[in-house]
Amino acid sequence: IFEPSQVLNALPNQFFAALVARAGQVAAEGHDVINLGQGNPDMPTPSHIVEALQRAAVDPLNHKYPPFRGHGYLKEAAAAFYKREYGVELDPQREIAILFGGKTGLVEVVQCLLNPGDTALVPDPGYPDYWSGIELARAVMEMMPLKEEHGFLPDYAAIPPETAAKVKLMFLNYPNNPTGAVADGEFFLETVRFAEKHNICVVHDFAYAAIGYEGQRPVSFLQTPGAKETGIEIYTLSKTYNMAGWRVAFAAGNASVIESLNLLQDHMYVSLFGAVQEAAAAALLGPQDCVRENVDRYEARRNTLISGLQQIGWQVEAPRGSFFAWLPVPEGYTSQSFADLLLEQAHVVVAPGIGFGAYGEGYVRIGLVSDEARLAEAVQRIAGLKLFTV
Ligand code: PLP
Repeated sequence: IFEPSQVLNALPNQFFAALVARAGQVAAEGHDVINLGQGNPDMPTPSHIVEALQRAAVDPLNHKYPPFRGHGYLKEAAAAFYKREYGVELDPQREIAILFGGKTGLVEVVQCLLNPGDTALVPDPGYPDYWSGIELARAVMEMMPLKEEHGFLPDYAAIPPETAAKVKLMFLNYPNNPTGAVADGEFFLETVRFAEKHNICVVHDFAYAAIGYEGQRPVSFLQTPGAKETGIEIYTLSKTYNMAGWRVAFAAGNASVIESLNLLQDHMYVSLFGAVQEAAAAALLGPQDCVRENVDRYEARRNTLISGLQQIGWQVEAPRGSFFAWLPVPEGYTSQSFADLLLEQAHVVVAPGIGFGAYGEGYVRIGLVSDEARLAEAVQRIAGLKLFTV
């Protein structure tokens, strides 16, 4: 037996693996489990993107090593996409790095910028992969509470100046997983000011970029004046185009951070399969109706779930973006005990808030990744537990 390294041992538990295992046990007992615990898009990739992959897969040029740092056409497509969608100008060579999925980039950027003992600010509750990158770099994590009364945005004024002075990097993520909050341009402006003052690199995770409700379009961090001097944005194709299995994303923004990401990747990868790069360019440059249809579908599901839960007496708010609903647990339960109750008695899997950080306690997260009929069925089963009064 070869023991894993200390760094590997120190990584936080893969919380979702435990969730999947528990749901699997209940299903194995013969129950019809409705899994709303994870964030895996349930719809297929639009066919024009799949067809682009099929065409590119038979091209012998794509059977050779792709160029280091990826094909120029994909970086140009990413730049054209930012210009078209957000009016942001990017230099494809200097300001864009192709990534093997957003998750990889989020872990890599910490290795690129932090030395052991350096400090990073992390939203709490937040996406657990931020912690993993920080652990791997042997850096120190400072939690930044996202409180409901503050719209689930960090309150920079509440961060002690001596803490802020130590911070080298901070993660943000809007539309937010898990809270469903959306940030506006004003908040990003405040972020740039805070980051400039303390010389912090902002890493904005824009995984749910396309998913805003009631006609509200989430803004890009890079639209903020000064953003390119202060940080990068990570854009994944996983959610916008239902391409989670394809593992393709890119980082955009600050040229020195982009260069560091490329440098690290030079030592680890060559770049993605050329056919995936061609398909990704087809997604970014091709017809965009599929994105609208996707968002409309999530919005219909959100409305079904939230109005259903409200009707049974659970006082919940609708998410403004992302495909998650963040719901307060009834009195007398912790997030874990409530998630356990829903799994065991209603066979509905939800993610306990504590899995996203200490400030996630008191909430559970429900993913809108099942169709409306299944969501309505989940509401009925929860109603059957008679936990709420109308
Ligand atoms: N960031 C957030 C907030 C996410 O929820 C996810 C996926 O669930 C990711 C990043 C990673 O996306 P991917 O690695 O598929 O690009």
